[in-house]
Amino acid sequence: GDYNLKIDYVFKVVLIGDSAVGKTQLLARFARNEFSVDSKATIGVEFQTKTLIIDNKTIKAQIWDTAGQERYRAVTSAYYRGAVGAMIVYDMTKRQSFDHLARWLEELRGHADKNIVIMLIGNKCDLSSLRAVPTEDAEEFAQRENLFFMETSALESTNVETCFLTILTEIYRIN
Ligand code: GDP
Ligand code: MG
Repeated sequence: GDYNLKIDYVFKVVLIGDSAVGKTQLLARFARNEFSVDSKATIGVEFQTKTLIIDNKTIKAQIWDTAGQERYRAVTSAYYRGAVGAMIVYDMTKRQSFDHLARWLEELRGHADKNIVIMLIGNKCDLSSLRAVPTEDAEEFAQRENLFFMETSALESTNVETCFLTILTEIYRIN
């Protein structure tokens, strides 16, 4: 356990995006290096923590996962409260999950602190033959909305560590 570590910072980061895009599996991969194929829809508000060192500081990342409340406007303001980072996830094989991003962003910006660091994540890049969202479309959206952007695979562990490290490093840099 990390009970004997002196924690310098606790950073709350929220995961949002449509149901079944892979939010829970991204978190499982990052926090516990696990992945499950028959992932159940999450029930009850949950977060996981992971302690890491950035710039010689001990940072506890507290990553919140939606509790099957991904319907429009069902995520409560308590979920966003105190968040310094957000990861908006879509499934690159499901165009609809990309088309809903503006809605997620609007909801996020309506609830969150204005300095929140936001990262856009196109998950399931292992399913390249089923791709429905070109990288350029997502890059353009991210650039326009001033978001970090990365494509990931929770299944194959591609870019998962990198995307969490990138957002946490940026949060550390600006806080
Ligand atoms: P959530 O509703 O956004 O939390 O989505 P889940 O994490 O529960 O994942 C939904 C489904 O997509 C599950 O069947 C996962 O196994 C699958 N899944 C999640 N991430 C990936 C990925 O990177 N690649 C593939 N091929 N499947 C994934
Ligand atoms: Mg989930």
